Amino acid sequence: MTRVAFLGLGAIGAPMARHLAGPDAALTVWNRTRSKANAFAELNAAQVADTPADAVKHADVVITCFPVSRDVESLLDGADGMLATMRAGSALVDCTSGDPATSKRIAARLAEHDIGFLDAPVSGGVAGAVSGTLTVMVGGDAALLERVRPVLEKFGKKIVHCGAIGSGDALKAVNNALLAMHIWGTAEGLLALEKMGVRSEAALDVINTSSGRSNASMNLFPERVLNRSFPRTFRLALLDKDAGIAADLARELDMPSELLQLTSQLFKKAHATLGEEVDHMEAVKYIEQISGAVVGQPAIHTGEKE
Ligand code: NDP
Repeated sequence: MTRVAFLGLGAIGAPMARHLAGPDAALTVWNRTRSKANAFAELNAAQVADTPADAVKHADVVITCFPVSRDVESLLDGADGMLATMRAGSALVDCTSGDPATSKRIAARLAEHDIGFLDAPVSGGVAGAVSGTLTVMVGGDAALLERVRPVLEKFGKKIVHCGAIGSGDALKAVNNALLAMHIWGTAEGLLALEKMGVRSEAALDVINTSSGRSNASMNLFPERVLNRSFPRTFRLALLDKDAGIAADLARELDMPSELLQLTSQLFKKAHATLGEEVDHMEAVKYIEQISGAVVGQPAIHTGEKE
């Protein structure tokens, strides 16, 4: 039986970890806020650890899922850190949507202790985590991926080896930068159409059978914006982080990236204005504020305009 430790029971981490619990599994969990780990263990077959060191000491595979790679790095050292107890020959699979440079540093630190590392961000959102149908994009040694694949298959439907360490992070950042562009562009377009009297419902009806459609126009706007539900599934702060990683990556590679840079700047502004806890789709509210209009509501104006 593969012994698995899962660290980071956040919005997506908790439903991912749920698939790793069960009578035929040996799962240990750790979360910074202990009460969340306790609540998890009340509903799922899992041991709760006091510290990261305690969580990983018997594990064959350690899975981490934190906001940024630096969080993972910060949990390596010290008496309570993962490196204090992780066993040689084990593997750390980081499902954080991380940044390639930090992932490479983490991999090098672990290699000194004969511990493998894969960057393995996921896509598919909380719904995909709940149904166990995530896409997992993996950077690092292909043979190590084959070794841990059975564990990743518990929450991932599609598992793609992308290349060397950091390539999973890079691909995830570009994917999310595209999501960010679609959200921003769709909001701006719909608001302009509303101003000239075209209802957003009609606009989306047309766009969604036309070439301008995207996941944002087909699912996110109809299900979260038009009905003003804005459920909190993926924080705007995290999408800002991802757009920033993509923009930095393109700049470091000396590639043309005007749209990536602009997207990052726009999401930074929205994040700074709306704060840490709002959902990524609430970026639409920021655009509404500065445009003085509301998507899907031609009669309602916020009155604010920059
Ligand atoms: P959340 O903000 O919901 O959860 C973050 C988790 O990390 C919590 O368990 C939190 O602990 C913990 N944490 C935060 N900072 C630290 C720290 N410094 N030290 C230790 N633990 C820390 O994030 P998500 O679960 O939404 O996202 C996790 C990762 O997955 C991110 O990289 C995100 O970009 C990515 N992702 C998220 C998706 C989503 O739909 N939510 C979709 C795809 C990828 P505590 O409970 O104590 O706050």
